[in-house]
This record gives sequence, structure tokens and C-alpha cells, in this order.
Amino acid sequence: MGNVEDLLRATADRAARYVRDLGDRPVYPAFDPDSVYRRLGGPVPDHSEDPAVTVEALSDAVEPNLVSVAGGRYFGFVTGGAVPASLAADWLTSAWDQNAFSFVSSPVAAIVEDIAAEWIKELLRLPAEASVAFVTGCQMAHVTCLAAARGEVLGRVGWDVNESGLAGAPPIRIVTGEKRHVTVDRALRLLGIGARSLDLVAVDAQGRMVPDALHDRLGERSVPTIVVAQAGEVNTGSFDPLGGILDAAAEHDAWVHVDGAFGIWARVSPELAEKVDCLEEADSWAFDAHKWLNVPYDSGIAVCAHPRAHRSAMLGRADYLPPTPGERDAFDWTPEASRRARAFAVYAAVRSLGRSGVRDLVERCCALARRCADGLAAIPGVEVLNSVELNQVLLRFRTDEDTQRILEHVQQGGVAWMGATSWEGRPAIRISVSSWATSETDVDRTVQAFVDAA
Ligand SMILES: *Cc1c(COP(=O)(O)O)cnc(C)c1O
Repeated sequence: MGNVEDLLRATADRAARYVRDLGDRPVYPAFDPDSVYRRLGGPVPDHSEDPAVTVEALSDAVEPNLVSVAGGRYFGFVTGGAVPASLAADWLTSAWDQNAFSFVSSPVAAIVEDIAAEWIKELLRLPAEASVAFVTGCQMAHVTCLAAARGEVLGRVGWDVNESGLAGAPPIRIVTGEKRHVTVDRALRLLGIGARSLDLVAVDAQGRMVPDALHDRLGERSVPTIVVAQAGEVNTGSFDPLGGILDAAAEHDAWVHVDGAFGIWARVSPELAEKVDCLEEADSWAFDAHKWLNVPYDSGIAVCAHPRAHRSAMLGRADYLPPTPGERDAFDWTPEASRRARAFAVYAAVRSLGRSGVRDLVERCCALARRCADGLAAIPGVEVLNSVELNQVLLRFRTDEDTQRILEHVQQGGVAWMGATSWEGRPAIRISVSSWATSETDVDRTVQAFVDAA
């Protein structure tokens, strides 16, 4: 089977070359699906081959077609890069191959997870006693937190959802903004809470819940209620007015869940913290490490201020799994059982950046977003649609045809990549500055690409 050490060294060389050359590649490849099918497809091979041959064949076919997500000029969706220590820790996580589902299955993974959980709460100033789960992404963090919320609000009216399920249960009401992220709906659906349970609150021009509209909605009925607020709207980067939401929710005994996928990281910056003050008073928080913390995919985090509700939503033990008293069994907190030890990469990101590094990363991305917005606003015909207060820039050209045509031109030019979106029913362009690797030069080259295309 060849020599494993040689294989890993050769693979590391390959990976290092890829990362080194990221800046020189087209950001989005001129993708050729047929070539990938031709080189990698066909029937299952009958016989074994040398692992070095397999890895080489796979990477030769894949590399030219990769999207340069980890480079400095990828502004699509909201996608962070990977800070070096975290990338390296992620490699080790694969080599170590720990199963992080319980304390016994990997004591050291459980302990590092515990440390990383404490660090995350400390960095974001979330309650020290809150429980934490490391999951695949913000959507599964929603599932985790909203499962806890569902059990708790039903429990308050005397319904045990773990025993009785949802059939025949009192209805649950979800109060959330019209511009909530679609993953909230998906998470709710997975939990048996359908679209008809949503009470939508009107939003303003930046996508923020309008406080009066929220009051009206909450006042309507007194039923088990979960409010889902947003810290960082995916197009504009705007924040729902958390203070007012928390006060109104408290009057109605509602659970407040915060979707802070990327926006929660504003907590680390004194310049931005005002937007997210009192966030610690919510009941649960879902966010990503793979976005603004720049941990490699995949990495999401769920935090819950009510550990008992969190644990009872996830609990389920086999006879062969007695608890280890005083120690962390991750599967008490996550929807998954067997899992990758994701906390190693989170730990490495936080440790290598430090408090000041995380703050710099967030503030630098915001400053670069403003630079980008200023540069773009100077192009005739460009309208910047959001007040650029975070890392998102939303723009369009005078006509929808211009917007689409110019975006396509920039996307195909290879200098930078950003996605299309829709805002107030019309096409728009969304630029998200979320990577440690993005520099002023990257932003200026991107603006120039728009100038050339326009
Ligand atoms: C990206 C995002 C999500 C979903 O996160 P995943 O990591 O893709 O699961 C949820 N909410 C907001 C606001 C987002 O930006």
C-alpha cells in the first residue's frame, strides 16, 4: 500500500503549493464538468491502486476547477478563508481521526472542546454557564438551539415534547423578521414546525425588524412563543434591534434565539459592539466559525443559556454509554452521535489570533468593505443599497440588465468573485468581505474589475 508517511508529505507539499498560488489563480474557474466526469467518473474500479496514484488523480482533476474560496478576492455568499493555524489543526484532526462523540471515545478531544467552548463564550461575552455544541454550521446550530427552545416553551404549558412528540401539542408561534435567513425556516421544518407557525415582522429598508411591528405581533396572542432575531442580515449586514426585542419578548415569556451566523463577531470590536449590546440576554445563539472566524469548513457553534433544556432536547443514551461524571460527553449537546473533532480547528484559530487578532480581523474586513463601497459608488450608474456598517456591500447598476451583465462580466474575468442576490424584488450584487487574506490591493483590484466591466 505504499508508505503512508511519504504519501502525507507529498500531499502536504501539494496542499501548500495550492495555498501559496491562490492569488495567481482565476478566482472562479472556467469550469469544465465533462473533464471532471471523464477523469474521475466511470464504474467502480475492480482493483486496488497505489494510494499515491489515487490522490494524484483526484487532485489533478479537481485542482484546476477549484473555487478560490480561501484567497483574498472571493467575496461570494458570506465565506471566510482559513487562518493558517486553523487549517493546519484541521489537517491534524484528520490524521488524528478522533471520534469526538463522548468523553471515553476521545478524552483529549472532549477536553479541548471544553476549552474552546469556554474561549468562545469569553470572546463573545456570552453567559459563562451557557452550554455549547460544535456542529457543522449555523443551520444545525439553529436546529440544536430551536430544539431546546421548542422543549422549553412547550414544557412551560405542561407539554413534554420528548415524551409526546408534536402531534396534539399546543401550537408554537415563531415570531421573526421578513428578512430572516432561510436556514431558520429549514431548521424549524426539521423540528416539525411548519411555515404556518411563522408570524412575520415587517422590516425596514436595511432588513431590520421594525420595533412597533414586533410589538403588534407579540401582543396578538398568548401562546408558546419563540422569537428569532438576527444579528447580521445576509445582504446588508444589518442587526435587528435586540434591546427592544428582548424587552418585548420578556413581557410575553418568549424564548429569544439569535441568528448571529457572522454578525455575532461584531461583539469582539468596541467600535461595533453597540449594535450587539445586550445580546447576552438572549436564550440561545447560533453562529459559524467557518465564516468570520476563518476556520475551514465545516464549523458551526450553538450556545444555549439553558443547559438543562439543551441537554434534554439532545439526550439519548445507549446502555453501553454510562456518563463520565464531571466530564463532557459531546453527544449530550449535539444532534450527531459520531463526529469529527471540530474544536481543534476552532481552538487553533482563537489561540493563534488572540483577542486582538479576532478584533483586527473583524474591523479590517469592515474597513475594507467601506473602501470597496466607496470605490464602487464612484462608478457612474452604481447605487450602493445598504449603509455599509459591517462587512457586506449591496449594490446595483441603473438597470437590471446592467446589473446582471456587469456582474457576469466580473465573475468571468477571474479577478474576483461575488454573487447575485435579490433586494426589494430586483437583482443586486452582494460583496461580503470575510477573509483574513483580503488586502486593500485585493479590494482595489476588485473595484477596478467593475470599472472595466462597466
Ligand atoms: C450563512 C448563514 C446561515 C447559515 O449558515 P450555515 O453555516 O450555512 O449553516 C444562517 N444565517 C445567516 C444570517 C447566514 O449568513
